Amino acid sequence: MKVDIAIVGGGPAGLSAAYSASKKGAKVVLFEKDPSFGHNVRTSGVSWIKEIEKLGISKEHYNPIKNFSFISPNNEVNITGKEYTACVLDIKKTFQFLAVKAAGEGTILFVRSNVFEVKRKDEGRISGIKVSTPKGVVDVDASLVIDASGFNSFISRKLGYVSLWQRYGVGAEYECYCDKIDPETLQLMVGQKYSEAGYAWVFPLANNRVRIGVGIGRPESAVDPLTKLNKIMDRNLYPLSKLGKIQPIEVHYGMIPNEGLRKSCVYDGLMMIGDTAGQANPLVLEGIRYAIEFGQLAGKIGTDSLQFESTRASLKEYECVCRKTLEKKIQSALKVQSRWLSLSDEDWDKEIDIIKDLSIDEFLDFIKSDFSYYKMMKLALNHPKLVARQLFDLVINKHR
Ligand SMILES: Cc1cc2nc3c(=O)[nH]c(=O)nc-3n(C[C@H](O)[C@H](O)[C@H](O)COP(=O)(O)OP(=O)(O)OC[C@H]3O[C@@H](n4cnc5c(N)ncnc54)[C@H](O)[C@@H]3O)c2cc1C
Repeated sequence: MKVDIAIVGGGPAGLSAAYSASKKGAKVVLFEKDPSFGHNVRTSGVSWIKEIEKLGISKEHYNPIKNFSFISPNNEVNITGKEYTACVLDIKKTFQFLAVKAAGEGTILFVRSNVFEVKRKDEGRISGIKVSTPKGVVDVDASLVIDASGFNSFISRKLGYVSLWQRYGVGAEYECYCDKIDPETLQLMVGQKYSEAGYAWVFPLANNRVRIGVGIGRPESAVDPLTKLNKIMDRNLYPLSKLGKIQPIEVHYGMIPNEGLRKSCVYDGLMMIGDTAGQANPLVLEGIRYAIEFGQLAGKIGTDSLQFESTRASLKEYECVCRKTLEKKIQSALKVQSRWLSLSDEDWDKEIDIIKDLSIDEFLDFIKSDFSYYKMMKLALNHPKLVARQLFDLVINKHR
């Protein structure tokens, strides 16, 4: 098979790149190793309504959220919003919607198709891939390969351009039936009993349906998040005790990079997008909207690069936009995260008091890692206590 662009991985990044490249007229093929798009859920699916709708995901794909609870061992803050700002995505529905959009523009889609080999030209540059599909092995020649294989970065590692992530989060989650849920409130739980290095969550998906999970940072802790989650569920720890009867419907497990962007996201004939490129916000394990946004951008720039044989230089614009948009944001999020990872239970109880002082908009900027200079200055002026507690310094120091 000969194509312009071959995409490895049918998560939000790969599917979005496929859509925009096909729309621009490229001949595109995409391979997903799972039996269907969104088959193995590796995410808890929280996103932000304004941002995700701009990217084409409409309200039938999510449950809207307006309130937020932060729970520490001996403290709790409840932030009530006036309008819906966040959402919990129906992952299968959203990913399959992205797949249908790509197919509608002409992308050739393969499921249960594992990319197992990378082909190179004489000078070492990638020239295609080999894939085990339900129709047998498919040998693909491509001018450009887009690595959207997620955390495992299959292609980029095979080529020796990157190694396995050293810092990452591991998460386990049950999607459950529950008797009593508040469908408009996200709950985050912090402190040792919930996670040794991270946090636990209750994210409502619909009436009587909720995602309950635990995320743990490596290398700070070696605890398995599923073991931890089972303990929390068995002990029916607060706030689970408020949910009534809980029965699991699905179990989800996944890993997310926690290091920031790769040193380079483009090489001759290759682009990295989504988790492969390290585009997620590590503070709250949020990567879906970035995967879609930068997937779409990669599809466009990748298609334009075809006329220049998709050399590294012709792909540089993608690299520049990623760095300009994401690098500082992720670095600031990593600093706040590293502070959070060092907090004891008592520190967390005090930290919750600080969050109590924030307005809903300030809280949202913070949780989205929107640490622009202007917003942080405003925060500092409104909350001198916060500045004294290093947060301002942590984030603003980056500008010096
Ligand atoms: C526990 C956890 C909770 C999270 N919660 C949130 C959240 O609430 N909100 C949010 O925005 N983000 C969240 N994220 C992050 C988010 O899931 C990722 O950032 C996002 O899915 C990245 O998209 P992607 O397309 O790059 O990768 P992925 O979604 O991982 O997709 C990669 C795809 O490539 C396929 N693949 C891999 N190797 C091959 C191969 N060799 N051949 C063919 N196919 C292959 C995989 O099967 C997979 O379908 C969470 C992550 C974790 C781990």
